[in-house]
Formats: sequence, structure tokens, C-alpha cells
Amino acid sequence: MAYKITEKCRNCGECFKVCPVGAINKETQKHEINSELCISCGSCAAVCPFGAPIEKE
Ligand code: SF4
Ligand code: SF4
Repeated sequence: MAYKITEKCRNCGECFKVCPVGAINKETQKHEINSELCISCGSCAAVCPFGAPIEKE
């Protein structure tokens, strides 16, 4: 299981700063999560002001 970033992302960069495993790519048009690196810690969802990261089903 991993998290993904939805269309609500406004590229504020907060999630990138807190991800402990470097799973978030900020070079893409919207921030994206590499599901192979994500350990589902939930930190990105906790800091996102826009509720963009969600747990994938
Ligand atoms: S914290 Fe939220 S709005 Fe900011 S870059 Fe990450 S997903 Fe996008
Ligand atoms: S859930 Fe944790 S490991 Fe996965 S992208 Fe968000 S901050 Fe990184």
C-alpha cells in the first residue's frame, strides 16, 4: 500500500520536505509519489494544507 497525490495538490512543497524516504517527486507538474518507495507513513497527508495526499485503495 502507498499514498498518492490527488489533483488537489498546489505544489506548495511541504510534503517533499517531510517524506522520510524521498518518495515524493517535485520535478513533475504536480508533486507525485513513487509508490515503490513510499512506506505509507502518512506524513505527507498530515502536513498537506490541501488534503491532496491520500492512501491508495
Ligand atoms: S503538501 Fe500537498 S499541496 Fe503541497 S506539494 Fe504536497 S501534496 Fe501538493
Ligand atoms: S506516506 Fe510517508 S513515505 Fe509515503 S510519500 Fe507520504 S511522507 Fe513519503
